[in-house]
Amino acid sequence: MSDINIEKLAAFCKKKGLVYPSSEIYGGMAGFFDYGPLRSEEHRTPEDSWWKFHVQSRDDIVGIDGSIITHPKVWEASGHVSSFVDVAVECKKCGSKSKLDRFEVGKVKCGKCDGEYVDKGEFNPMFTTQVGPIKKDSIKAYLRPETAQIMFVDFKQVVETSRLKLPFGIAQMGKAFRNEISPRNFLFRCREFEQMEIEYFIHPKNVNNCPFIAEVQDHEIIILSSDDQSQGKTKGTKMTIKQALDKQIIKTQWHAYWLALEHKWFISLGATPDNFRIRQHLKTEKSHYALDTWDLEYKFSFGWKELQGLANRTDYDLKQHMKHSKKKMTMYIQEDKERIVPYVVAEPSQGVDRAFLVFISDAYEDDKERGNIVLKLDPKLSPIKVAVFPLVNKDGVDDKAKQVYKEVKTCFNSFYDRSGSIGRRYARQDEVGTPYCVTVDYDTLKDNTVTIRDRDTTEQIRVKIKELRNVLWDLLNKKVLFKEVKK
Ligand code: ATP
Repeated sequence: MSDINIEKLAAFCKKKGLVYPSSEIYGGMAGFFDYGPLRSEEHRTPEDSWWKFHVQSRDDIVGIDGSIITHPKVWEASGHVSSFVDVAVECKKCGSKSKLDRFEVGKVKCGKCDGEYVDKGEFNPMFTTQVGPIKKDSIKAYLRPETAQIMFVDFKQVVETSRLKLPFGIAQMGKAFRNEISPRNFLFRCREFEQMEIEYFIHPKNVNNCPFIAEVQDHEIIILSSDDQSQGKTKGTKMTIKQALDKQIIKTQWHAYWLALEHKWFISLGATPDNFRIRQHLKTEKSHYALDTWDLEYKFSFGWKELQGLANRTDYDLKQHMKHSKKKMTMYIQEDKERIVPYVVAEPSQGVDRAFLVFISDAYEDDKERGNIVLKLDPKLSPIKVAVFPLVNKDGVDDKAKQVYKEVKTCFNSFYDRSGSIGRRYARQDEVGTPYCVTVDYDTLKDNTVTIRDRDTTEQIRVKIKELRNVLWDLLNKKVLFKEVKK
């Protein structure tokens, strides 16, 4: 359900200890959040899945882990110091502050009251810091506003040590910082956030020669092109990647491949396909480095919003770093007997926090019949995979339950809960998305069987303890459906 009100969602996440405002005992600071015990389990899961999907399961992408503070010349060369600017605006009517791209000023109305915005001037959202403790000997540096540049700066090093051949990608996950004028919509716009990014390098002559295109040809996605938007259309059209390429809506195979793959990643983790669309940037909207940019967007309760930007950056960044560092960033192409500067035709750039919002929004269901929230997360994203309860805390049932819990815990992240009614305990687990609850009762003492209850249907099955871990493994990994085990 993607239309869950964002304030309600923030309050729910806080109540469950998933994520809440940072340093709240001192009043908090806008745009900074702390992830609690549960979320830090889940936090690693989308990231782990992303890394497995994009790096470990492929032979053509390697990962790095760059530093957050770099030589300031990195950001001069990339254009961030001079061109990474937004326009600060303030609503004439309600006084709320926001940031706009230059092309939006004069066109966009206040999101809160539809009032007119006043231009308050440009600002650069990079956080500055001082490297070296003695001011007069120190240098001014920046906290990285994106992870992407580090992949370009390390290009030569990575190509040489990993012995890479085109096409290939360099991936990275990590913190990024932007001094946003108006952090809002919970985790959507923070000042400290996390990114998962890939710079994928190809030979410039191969923009339309993607060896993986067949894998995504039939994939369907809602598309809103820049032409559609110029004609005043706000609704996209659903079509296959093949149709989009044949009609030249998406210009290159590589760009189409990455757009489809990123949509597929969200779907592989249970998100609803039609809550996503890809939207092409208007000519006036594109960043200083981009030839063509598409955003993967999600239908949040506050509108269609960017989840991921996929820019065709060409050879802009490598050339800029060559110019500023005077180091060669070229590759020798054996069959052409020449050196070339590789192209980045699509740069999937995903915010972890926005991905978290998508998964939570999509999974959130207010189940009136049960009287509690059910977080229908894909098991891969559930912070707790299995909860174990004793029906009663006496007569040896609790000891047996602890034994079962210990066994289950060796395989899956599990939770033991002995307090409150069974109904209450199920509800608590529903609310944090635990897919399976195991209950130990008096029958367990007689026949060594336990009950597994399915979060989504509330149906129950009885299995032998000695088969429990295998059954749970099959269920969690979707090797078998709950109703099949039931049979
Ligand atoms: P926006 O227009 O929403 O400010 P952007 O176009 O500046 O985003 P990019 O520079 O393309 O964003 O960054 C890539 C991705 O990083 C975004 O798609 C988003 O998922 C994430 N991201 C960027 N800024 C923030 C932020 N302030 N808070 C959380 N995530 C962010």
